Amino acid sequence: MIRCVSCGAEYDDDEVIYTCEKCGSVLELVSDIDVSKDIFDGRKDTLWKFKECIPVDESKIVSLDEGGTPFCKCDKLGSELGVNLYVKVEGSNPTGSFKDRGMTVGMTKAMELGVSTVGCASTGNTSASLAAYAARAGLRCIVFLPSGKVALGKLAQAMFHGAEVMSINGNFDEALEAMTALALEKHLYLLNSINPYRLEGQKTIGYEILRDLGWQAPDRIILPVGNAGNISAIWKGVSEFYNAGFVKDLPMMTGIQAEGACPVTNAFRKGDRRVVPVENPETIATAIRIGAPVSDIKALNAIYDSNGYSETVTDEEILDAQKLLARTEGIGVEPASAASIAGLKKLVDQGVIDKGETITCVVTGHLLKDPNTAIDACTKPTEVDADIDTLRKILMNK
Ligand SMILES: *Cc1c(COP(=O)(O)O)cnc(C)c1O
Ligand SMILES: [Zn+2]
Repeated sequence: MIRCVSCGAEYDDDEVIYTCEKCGSVLELVSDIDVSKDIFDGRKDTLWKFKECIPVDESKIVSLDEGGTPFCKCDKLGSELGVNLYVKVEGSNPTGSFKDRGMTVGMTKAMELGVSTVGCASTGNTSASLAAYAARAGLRCIVFLPSGKVALGKLAQAMFHGAEVMSINGNFDEALEAMTALALEKHLYLLNSINPYRLEGQKTIGYEILRDLGWQAPDRIILPVGNAGNISAIWKGVSEFYNAGFVKDLPMMTGIQAEGACPVTNAFRKGDRRVVPVENPETIATAIRIGAPVSDIKALNAIYDSNGYSETVTDEEILDAQKLLARTEGIGVEPASAASIAGLKKLVDQGVIDKGETITCVVTGHLLKDPNTAIDACTKPTEVDADIDTLRKILMNK
């Protein structure tokens, strides 16, 4: 069953519907977990090991073996900050971001519904993922990208997997509005995160974190927030497993935004449950360069209900954190993902995070998604002849 988050109106699973017909709010799937967690044991570690908890037709699954991502204990960085730190590395998914978790479920639903065309507006990763899964499913794929603001790796993926890519003169919010209008005219099936099936895939990040910790909740989960689907999905996942009795506690959901694109943090500071959109959002972290997040209600509910928090970080703090994670722990992430680490650092400094807390930072996308930003952050290698005397001299002088 699909249910409206605001007014509780109910809709059938097979209705193609993105927002509530009665009040216009966002929708979610209502699922009851009536299995024992032991049934997941011994299955291949992809998100489909949780198939009993994902409300789609198993016979229609479109998968690239997404999920089951690394859960790295980061002792060096953790002890520097005085916390017990784990990093959930979502860049290890098939196309290099957590969007694959949403897309495998969304594309499976698309096959169930029998649609022929899928589409999305994207800051980059959604389009990269959609293009790959549409290719695997054999469906036509339309993608709208904000002109000039998509990281190189993501653009390459969307084009290479055969999506029909259009560069929209406007920002993400405008591209999404146009794509949504076409979906409502039934030209295509919309696979942005307003589609509640996307979040049914992404909630498995929450499942896995609890499982990775040996069926315990961390004190806190920290992640970057853009369109606000992922924080909502992870909260749904941990809540479902908590309600099923698989764990005894719930984590505090902590959403980090870029200073130039922070409607959710603004709302949190005022205690509001809706955002006021930010006009002309700007940040180097293009994946979270979003002014009017569609899942604002769900995200703010998640933060309040979990006794969580929201904070902003500057682009400089993001780039510093990106480098810190890469150089102290060997984990390469794109700028948006590093917002979680930058936020962790800031909240430790502010005393919002207590010493000794067990923290899971979700790092959402791979370093190679945005090679230009990575190269710009480094000094160019010196050019040297392959002469052993010269090379030895240089090395010994260091
Ligand atoms: C999509 C994305 C985000 C933001 O997730 P939302 O669900 O839009 O809040 C953060 N980081 C990366 C790498 C992404 O691709
Ligand atoms: Zn409603």
